[in-house]
Amino acid sequence: MDSGVFKRGKLLESMSRADLDGAIADGRFRQIRHGWLATPSADPDVVRAVSVGGVLTCASALRRHGAWVVPTTKLHVRGSTSSVRNHPAWCRQHGRPPTVTDAVDDLPTALRHAARCLPTEEFVVICDSLLNRGLLTPSALDAELGGAPRSVQQALTLVDGRSESGTETLVRLRMRAPHLNIRTQVAIPEVGRVDLMIGSSMIIEVDGYEYHADPHQFERDRLRDLQARALGYDPVRLTYRQVIYQWDRVVPLLGELLRRDLHRRPPIDTHP
Ligand SMILES: [Zn+2]
Repeated sequence: MDSGVFKRGKLLESMSRADLDGAIADGRFRQIRHGWLATPSADPDVVRAVSVGGVLTCASALRRHGAWVVPTTKLHVRGSTSSVRNHPAWCRQHGRPPTVTDAVDDLPTALRHAARCLPTEEFVVICDSLLNRGLLTPSALDAELGGAPRSVQQALTLVDGRSESGTETLVRLRMRAPHLNIRTQVAIPEVGRVDLMIGSSMIIEVDGYEYHADPHQFERDRLRDLQARALGYDPVRLTYRQVIYQWDRVVPLLGELLRRDLHRRPPIDTHP
């Protein structure tokens, strides 16, 4: 879906100057910056990015491209002219930026900006979701970031495209510890695939969205928890809000469960 913000020159490829002047006169387009026009229903984030002298990039553009992005109020903008490109609040990529052709950077360009701009965990969340949602292949991800600095290469070693939500990725990254074996999307007979398995018996299931829209899924999740518990596992369910906004409260509680070795209990053999 287009953003509703266009370069004037691009519009003139498909309509005459007179038609464009008419469209501006009757409100179908308005000029938001010299050479840039927006429709009344244009994406407000894109309008803002272009109005301040840039284009939408990095996490903000990747959200539009379908990636799971950690929520933030920050608008990720890259300056589209050399005079404003180095503005400290704006995003830059490693190496020379490509020419601006659209109000929203394409996925590879936005990703290269995210690699430089975002904290590692937010960058890994995006990479996981691009792979999981089939928006990028693993080889394309490596190719796009092949020339990036070592810190980016290290972040790429943490990427796991099996992860089904950004919150699941965040928990996996935050629970990483040398002594903990954490596995992603583990299949358990009679239970199904669980988001994360810590050690041999601690299951962590993570809500990927803020609101549970599906009451049937809610019922199924609770039944799965019960089935897992009957098999000797310890399922822990974390909500979106707990991961995104209340992690400081959650982490000591998870630590307490691990201290009690809940993750080291052998599952019950139900078929002796
Ligand atoms: Zn950025």
